[in-house]
Amino acid sequence: MNSFEIAVLGGDGIGPEVMEAGLAVLEAVDQRHKLGLRFSSHRAGAMAYRDTGEDLSEEVFARSRDADAILLGAMGWPGIRRDDGTELAPQITLRMRLGLFGGVRPIRAIPGVPLPLRDPRAAKMDFVILRESTEGLFFSKDKGLITHEMAEETLRLTRPTSLALARMSFELAGERAARLGRPGRVTLVDKANVFRAFAWLREVFGEVAAEHPGIVFDAHYVDAMALDLIRRPWDFDVLPTENMFGDILSDLAAGLIGGMGFAPSADLGAEHAVFQPSHGTAPDIAGKGLANPTAMILSGAMMLEWLALRGGGDALRAAAGEIRAAVDQAFAEGLRTPDIGGSHGTAEVGRRVIAAL
Ligand code: ATP
Ligand code: MG
Repeated sequence: MNSFEIAVLGGDGIGPEVMEAGLAVLEAVDQRHKLGLRFSSHRAGAMAYRDTGEDLSEEVFARSRDADAILLGAMGWPGIRRDDGTELAPQITLRMRLGLFGGVRPIRAIPGVPLPLRDPRAAKMDFVILRESTEGLFFSKDKGLITHEMAEETLRLTRPTSLALARMSFELAGERAARLGRPGRVTLVDKANVFRAFAWLREVFGEVAAEHPGIVFDAHYVDAMALDLIRRPWDFDVLPTENMFGDILSDLAAGLIGGMGFAPSADLGAEHAVFQPSHGTAPDIAGKGLANPTAMILSGAMMLEWLALRGGGDALRAAAGEIRAAVDQAFAEGLRTPDIGGSHGTAEVGRRVIAAL
């Protein structure tokens, strides 16, 4: 029988709250399908730093690295910074140290959740932002040249990472085309009209596109994409992009489906993967039991699918599908979280999704 070791890092703020609901749902499908999931929780984040002087200890890093997958809540807290003033962001440390270049952020409308766009086609939105997560403009983090007179940060794109991102884009488009029964399309989001780095990136993507004749490849400027994600988001499929553009567009895209509480994500590398909601620790609502755990629950489903792809078997894929269907059913039957004007708290979402399972 399969057995999967899952490292659980709840983190700070609403992180541990949404994690509890997410784990309850995973445990329910594990019981039903005998998936062999084994969870071990570890401390990391701003509160861990405050209490122990380390936000991600070497031991927790090693346990996470050696696990089959990592589930992460959210990390960071206002006012808790390192002694040198830099932000505590162990989730970025994990991305960098484990080479998690592919930030997969699926955007799918959940039936029953009120959408800001009135066009009926909005209910059919189903696209993925693929945010490169280790270089781009974030390459410069903590390395910028800052003087009294000027501030300079650097954008870096490398060929190995860009090729890997392109391959991931076309593979993802291929899987989605098979599942959704429509032609796949990869639209690179860039600013090639201003920066030569992005013209170079288009060429790298073009090389990989040539190996995938069944998938449409085009490119879109990021400013035009910001407009089109509001005007016609239902037209897009897989949207690979540079780190900072992806950071910004994925918040915009989360807004299209009801907010951060509905936006799951996966940070994928060649060997490792972290699954976490796209949102942060939400200090404004932490500790009140109000956080919407849907993004965390859907991130858990993404983890099961990833384990299935890595040879874990069909039961994992079936369980992922059941979680998604249960989330859809719970909202279709009237589940309404505070972020969309309802009153059902974090634990209630967990209970209703499990009931729908
Ligand atoms: P980060 O720097 O990690 O991106 P952030 O400062 O951008 O964090 P978030 O924690 O993502 O902030 O929160 C942005 C807003 O969305 C806040 O008002 C927060 O309350 C709300 N929010 C985030 N996650 C959820 C959730 N799961 N349920 C309800 N509201 C949420
Ligand atoms: Mg944010």
